[in-house]
Amino acid sequence: MIYLDYQATTPVAPEVAEAMRPWVSEKFANPHAPSRWGREAAAAIEVARNQVSQAIGLGGGSLAFTGSATEALNWALKGTIEKAHEGRTRIVTVATEHAAVLDSCEWLEGRGFGVTRLPVGRDGLIDIDSVEAALDETVALVAVMLVNNEIGVIQPVGEIARLARRVGALMLCDAVQGLGRVEIPEGPDLVAVSAHKIHGPKGIGALWMRQGAEPAPLIHGGGQEQGLRSGTLSPALCVGLGAAAKLASERREADHQHVERLWDAALAELGPQWTVNGSVEQRYRGNLNIGREGVDAARLISDLRDIAFSLGSACASGSGRPSHVLRAIGLGDREARSSIRLGFGRYTTEEELVSAVRRIGTAARAQEGLAA
Ligand code: PLP
Repeated sequence: MIYLDYQATTPVAPEVAEAMRPWVSEKFANPHAPSRWGREAAAAIEVARNQVSQAIGLGGGSLAFTGSATEALNWALKGTIEKAHEGRTRIVTVATEHAAVLDSCEWLEGRGFGVTRLPVGRDGLIDIDSVEAALDETVALVAVMLVNNEIGVIQPVGEIARLARRVGALMLCDAVQGLGRVEIPEGPDLVAVSAHKIHGPKGIGALWMRQGAEPAPLIHGGGQEQGLRSGTLSPALCVGLGAAAKLASERREADHQHVERLWDAALAELGPQWTVNGSVEQRYRGNLNIGREGVDAARLISDLRDIAFSLGSACASGSGRPSHVLRAIGLGDREARSSIRLGFGRYTTEEELVSAVRRIGTAARAQEGLAA
C-alpha cells in the first residue's frame, strides 16, 4: 500500500512507540496514586506536558490532556461561552473550520448564542478586514484553524488574535494540522492539538490555555487536570503525545524540506490538467488537494485500492454531500467531486509518491477515454 492520507492520520513514529512501550506493560501504576510507582508515572506525564507546551511554543499558560482534539475544541468553545461575561454572547469563526468547531457552534446557536461564519476567498484564505468588521464587544471567542485539513492553507492566526484581543475576545486556534509543521504565531489564548496527526497515538489530544483563559470545567470527578477535566490519565498516551511533539519540533526543518521536495516532484509528474485547490503560497505543502475536469474522484479511489488517498470532497460523514471547504472556496458540485487530496510527510518516499501520482494520472485519463 502507498499511504497518502497524512491529514487523516499519520504512522506512529518508532521513537514514539518505543517511548510508550514500558507504560503499556510493566509500568501500570495509577499516575494519581501516592506510591513511588504512581509518582513515577505522574512525573512522566509532567515531562510529556512540558514537551507538548514547548512544541506549541507560546510560553507560560497550562496544558490539559484530552481524549482528542475534537474534545479539546468542543471544550474550548462551550466552556468559554459558559464562563463568558454577560453581554459576550457571540462566536466568530470561519466557514472552512473542522466539524468539531462548526458543529459545536451550531449547537451553541441552538441555545441562543450568536455565530458569525466568515467566508474565505477562492484561495481559501480569510480577508482580515472581514474579521475586523465582525468583531465588537459582544464577541466572546474567535475560533480559527492554523492549517486547513482539507486544502492545507495557512490562516493569519496571529493577526486575527491581535484583532480579537483589541475587543476583549479570546482566540481559539485549532493547530491540529499545524503543530510541528508551521510555527504557531503569538496571540492565541487557547490551542487545540492531536497526537495522531503528528506521528503519535490515537486517543489523545490537548488544550493549551493562556493563564486566565481556562474554559469552565469539562468533566467533574476526581479533580485531575487542575479540576478542569477529571478522569485517570493514561501515562502511555500522554508520553506518546509528548514524544511525538518533541520529535516534531526537532525534525521540523528536515520534515519541511522533505515535504517541499515531495510537493515539487508530485506537481512535475501531474502536469497541467490538474489544478491545485487553495493557495499554493500560503500553504503547508504536505497537503496536495487537486482537481481535474471530468474526473470522478470516488471512482479513482475505488479503482486504485492499494493507494490510500482521500476525496478532496471528503463527504460529511458519508452523507454524499461535497466538502463544505471546497464549496466555501467557490467550487461547484462537479468540480468538488473531481477533486482528490494527497497527504504526505516524514515517511513518504519520492519514488512511492511519484509512482502513485503516475497511476492516478493514468486512471484519470482512462476515465476520460471511457467518457469520450
Ligand atoms: N481539527 C483538524 C484541523 C483536524 O484535521 C482534525 C482531525 O481530523 C481534528 C480537528 C480532530 O482531531 P481528533 O481526531 O484528535 O479528534
